[in-house]
Amino acid sequence: MSVRRIGLLGGTFDPIHMGHLDLATAAHRALGLTQVLVIPANVPPHRPKPLTSAFHRFAMVALAVAGRPDWRVSDVELLLNEAPSYTAVTLRRFHERGHVPTELFFLIGADAFAQITTWRDYPGILDGAHFAVISRPGHSVTTLPDRMPAQAARMIVATPGMTFPETPSIFLIDAPTAEVSSTAIRSRLTTGDSIDGMVDPRVRQHIEQHGLYSSPLHHRRRSSPSANSAAGRLHGQD
Ligand code: ATP
Repeated sequence: MSVRRIGLLGGTFDPIHMGHLDLATAAHRALGLTQVLVIPANVPPHRPKPLTSAFHRFAMVALAVAGRPDWRVSDVELLLNEAPSYTAVTLRRFHERGHVPTELFFLIGADAFAQITTWRDYPGILDGAHFAVISRPGHSVTTLPDRMPAQAARMIVATPGMTFPETPSIFLIDAPTAEVSSTAIRSRLTTGDSIDGMVDPRVRQHIEQHGLYSSPLHHRRRSSPSANSAAGRLHGQD
């Protein structure tokens, strides 16, 4: 049977940006992934509600993966009926679909991984998949073994041609990624600053076409439906 190495990249993706794409590209290369699944989260448990709907976040991820042959957007977390997205639950879904933990690689930035001790089902969650931790500007993976001594024994620096262990491990990948965050992009859009080069051009076009993040009218309509809203029109109010 041919080898399967499936990278899973979870996140809010509000919006998806070049840092996310650099992260998954670095892992794809370093680990020889056969597929990358980008998984937009429902409402993340420890985060404020995203500014845009799950539909727009899914659409933006779909546009960002278009043209990347091994990449897919996954609706697995969005179909959980508004339940908060817990990685432990998502990994169980993949196990139920017949995937063994050692063919799953949960891709994560070093900043997010440093918080993993607060996640549901920690430390058991680390047995549900390999974890591939990628540096994020200002958050190097090289210091992780010292910062997380309880997990240092299962950390492996990813090297070309390495043999993959038969038990779930934590791969450390030190690769440059764009110094950008969704927060910075949202804030630039609010003030009308350019986001050129920070997101895939197709994602930028989607944001502009739908006026995401920038228009006060857009936010007003979402937070308090008025007589002008689609709901109002449906009920014959204008
Ligand atoms: P926000 O600014 O809204 O908090 P974010 O830019 O941090 O969002 P998330 O969707 O929260 O993006 O991140 C999903 C995953 O991508 C996390 O594992 C995070 O560490 C990683 N990540 C985000 N941006 C980068 C980046 N520039 N370089 C490397 N990893 C990143």
